Amino acid sequence: MKNIEEKTYTSTRNACKVCTPLGASIAFKGVAGCVPLIHGSQGCATYIRRYLISHYKEPVDIASTNFTEESAIFGGEANLFTALQNVSSQYKPELIGIATTCLSETIGDDMQKLLHKYKEIYARETNLPALVFVNTPSYSGTHTDGFHNAIHALVKAFACGGEVADALNLFPGFLSPADIRHLREIVSSFGIDQMLGVDYSDVLDNEHTGNYEKIPAGGTTLDELKAMGAAKASIELGYILNKFNPKAETAGEYLENNFSIPRINLGLPIGISESDFFFNALETITGKKTPGKYKKQRGRLVDSYIDGHKHLFGKRAVVYGEEDFVVGMVAFLEELGIETILCASGGNSGLLKKVIDEQVLPRNEIPVHDNYDFEDIAEACAQLKPDLLIGNSKGYYISRKLGIPLVRVGFPIHDRMGGQRILHVGYEGTQQLFDLITNTLIEYKQDHSPVGYKYM
Ligand code: SF4
Repeated sequence: MKNIEEKTYTSTRNACKVCTPLGASIAFKGVAGCVPLIHGSQGCATYIRRYLISHYKEPVDIASTNFTEESAIFGGEANLFTALQNVSSQYKPELIGIATTCLSETIGDDMQKLLHKYKEIYARETNLPALVFVNTPSYSGTHTDGFHNAIHALVKAFACGGEVADALNLFPGFLSPADIRHLREIVSSFGIDQMLGVDYSDVLDNEHTGNYEKIPAGGTTLDELKAMGAAKASIELGYILNKFNPKAETAGEYLENNFSIPRINLGLPIGISESDFFFNALETITGKKTPGKYKKQRGRLVDSYIDGHKHLFGKRAVVYGEEDFVVGMVAFLEELGIETILCASGGNSGLLKKVIDEQVLPRNEIPVHDNYDFEDIAEACAQLKPDLLIGNSKGYYISRKLGIPLVRVGFPIHDRMGGQRILHVGYEGTQQLFDLITNTLIEYKQDHSPVGYKYM
């Protein structure tokens, strides 16, 4: 059997990651009154809009500086200034969040200088929106790097110090709108104010109002971003975050370094152990006990682990997706007795194996591959013959070709409804994942049984 370590290609074929400004756009969507602006060609913004609409099933307005051949040669200053004027007059935003593209990064547009010049020219305008930019060359990093770097840029731009308030900064990481809503409810139940970095739970999963809203309601307000500099503590979920660049600073680290706000870094709260860590942190910060409602959820989850053990123990899974998501899923599967036989991500922080070995599975036996693409995963699956694939919908063609059931989680989910409503975190989210995984395995067994049984 060919060793799966042996890569015969050096190019990426069907990337297991998405473009960096796409992640930044999602982060900017999580700020109230913000319009994301992609500095580059029209195609980049169109692709990002299309990709996000397909997952979130919401209108996703993302502006573009619409580069032409001329701007690609002489620089994007004129297009940027025109776009800022157009977006300001048409949307009347409180903030324009600008993310660069491969093209504008390659020609070397100096965004800091350009925005400084723009503000000087239009200094007399009374309704000038706030402007925040993030460098997001997509040939360096992934959508999660763009996401976390944009949150860092937002916090750096707005956070102010002040008298310490009884409030908590929560950086949930790159999760679904349902996850963010759930984490918000949990924190509220501890009776402490919170500032989310950031909250796109309404904007990207909104109610039907019958009206087209240019900027949908919801999101972290600029006042909340300002208040982050005077919080009691920060909880930052995700062990890897934006550490593609080892020198990069996370939003929580920025607040710790500049405002002395204690930072608690945890993994995504998927599974019982990681959820326990999250609830314990909230108990420590607030001095209050976990509400009974969540203790009951935990108890029911433990009960279901016992009930489902016979269906799960010894099954073999391949897990792929964003690095922190893979870490969370592996921790959860280990609790179920499912053996992870391959962890794969298109991320390239260099930390995935280290984090899994040190934080999740000290026995160090799982093959962990970062910088992997879907063709690598397909080749590995053909050899390893897992019982289950766990990851986003981009793995469907592997599932179909090899006849391996796929559990769709994370981002993106392009071939099903409800990707934005998948709950992954906390005891409740873990319960839903547990049911999904167990029933997928039961269904597969039932469908392939020579006997059409309907009772277990
Ligand atoms: S050119 Fe770069 S920034 Fe534009 S869509 Fe492609 S990867 Fe993303």
